[in-house]
Amino acid sequence: MTALTNHITSLIRASGPLTLAEFMALCLQHPEHGYYTTRDPLGAAGDFTTAPEISQMFGELLGLCLAQSWLDAGAPAPFTLAELGPGRGTLMADILRATRAVPGFHAAAELLLIETSPALRARQAEALTGHSPTWANSFAPKAQPLFLVANEFFDALPIRQFIRDTGGWRERVVGLSEGALAFGLTEAAPLAALEHRLSDTAEGDIVTLSGHAEAVASEIGAHIATHGGTALIIDYGDWQPTGDSFQAVKAHEKVSPLESPGEADLTAHVDFAALARAAAPAAHSALTPQGVFLERLGITARAETLAQNLRDGALQNHIAAHRRLTHPEEMGSLFKVMALMPQGTHAPAGLDDDA
Ligand code: SAH
Repeated sequence: MTALTNHITSLIRASGPLTLAEFMALCLQHPEHGYYTTRDPLGAAGDFTTAPEISQMFGELLGLCLAQSWLDAGAPAPFTLAELGPGRGTLMADILRATRAVPGFHAAAELLLIETSPALRARQAEALTGHSPTWANSFAPKAQPLFLVANEFFDALPIRQFIRDTGGWRERVVGLSEGALAFGLTEAAPLAALEHRLSDTAEGDIVTLSGHAEAVASEIGAHIATHGGTALIIDYGDWQPTGDSFQAVKAHEKVSPLESPGEADLTAHVDFAALARAAAPAAHSALTPQGVFLERLGITARAETLAQNLRDGALQNHIAAHRRLTHPEEMGSLFKVMALMPQGTHAPAGLDDDA
């Protein structure tokens, strides 16, 4: 049994079953044994790969999209260029390289990275040599315009899960069965926080509540409404999704979430409707599939330019990466993009205004 399994088991013995949110927070963020605290989980040798690790095109196009929004906002200076959960720093490095030629953008940008993992902070410092980022554990930017990206950040925040029943909602919890971690369900009870799900669900349907994600979205929304700016949120999920998307991934394979706490990545699909509601003083764009967004920003033209200098295996990899980011059967439709921006302004390039 791992140290973290022992710790979780004694917590449950002492005070009863944990919500999935409590379990996720311990597994991912425990200061000593947490998944993100102890390792760099990205890349082929790690547990999962993300869009910026697949191709430089992703970060380049996001960078140009953000820079265009900054120009459209009147090129405010100074401004905060922030990333939530920057992983290896690859996305920010690509954003900065692609925006070098945008007059004034780098000079006005103050780089802020929100990252809890010491291991990943070290990787980010390496990737961003020559820039001088500030790191923070939580979102609290200066009172100035904010241009922000968050790719595969919100899916890593703790969620609670509920199953609809005749008497209301039963919460999925982690308890013990014969000494081992096991899923359980609470008694059914009505829940005010899920009243908005009564019209689009039936008995047996599973929904999530993401208090952590909503708290972050609410702060971003309030900040953008007051100080201006744009946030680009990219993640797998949907508008008010239904179903069990809670999953654990280790070495690129799905495993049971209870099998090795602290050693597998735990995620759940993001509820973009909940983020949009929480960000309410700010406006939000229409939710757009990643493939559509990248095509509108010109990924195919960029892919062709890059292909001219590639041969053989490198060329095959590049073609596969383009497909992986955009094709509906790969990341193209599962992943979605939503922007937050001030009321009365238009959605950034590649995204439609909310209908
Ligand atoms: N955006 C990167 C990495 C995604 S992995 C990419 O696209 O490659 C998730 C990232 O969020 C990691 O950097 C992880 O350490 C960070 N993270 C997870 N939970 C966090 C939290 N509660 N607060 C701050 N950062 C967190």
